[in-house]
Amino acid sequence: MKLILASGNGGKLREFREILGPLGVEIVSQREAGYDLDVAETGESFEANAFLKASAICAASGLPAVADDSGLCVAALGGAPGVRSARYGGGKAWTDRQKYEYLLEQMAGKTDRAAKFVSCICCVFPNGDTLRAQGECPGRILRAAAGDGGFGYDPVFAPDGYDRSFGQLGPAVKNAISHRARALAAFRKELESYVDR
Ligand code: IMP
Repeated sequence: MKLILASGNGGKLREFREILGPLGVEIVSQREAGYDLDVAETGESFEANAFLKASAICAASGLPAVADDSGLCVAALGGAPGVRSARYGGGKAWTDRQKYEYLLEQMAGKTDRAAKFVSCICCVFPNGDTLRAQGECPGRILRAAAGDGGFGYDPVFAPDGYDRSFGQLGPAVKNAISHRARALAAFRKELESYVDR
């Protein structure tokens, strides 16, 4: 099966391919498919934004489209940056590094470092059928950035059970335990039962 990934995020694209490729699902980026839309993420939840992105690309292309809306929720910051993770601090113009350095500033002096990554996946088919899946990865915000693997906030987030950041742990560990890996495992089950109907 071929799905268009409704995202311009190279990190997400790589992880979708690493995780779904071995299962026989071909992921084509929206840019490769010729649909370079920047869908406004006006939803108040990860679920709502994932649906907005997948349905916009499905409507434009007439092909099944899948989207991941994801982010980092930090307990001591009341769940921020949350759905605004890609627009945190100075917004989309800021680099990933500027955003995670800003997060570390907001966390200065805070002893509660608990945080979780959340991923909501939505797949929309041209007939309107919609599949949804979600995954979370609990962990904590480190005192300083470490490692340069992954993307986004990976250098400042250590998953539960590890002393090192996702930026240091590498793709094999991240793709086994991350929020996206868990959401994609649930999505795979949804997709298999949808195809077998
Ligand atoms: P959106 O889903 O396009 O709204 O963007 C999600 C944002 O959350 C990304 O731009 C990253 O800043 C952050 N994010 C989501 N997943 C990850 C991840 O696996 N590692 C690090 N940061 C992530």
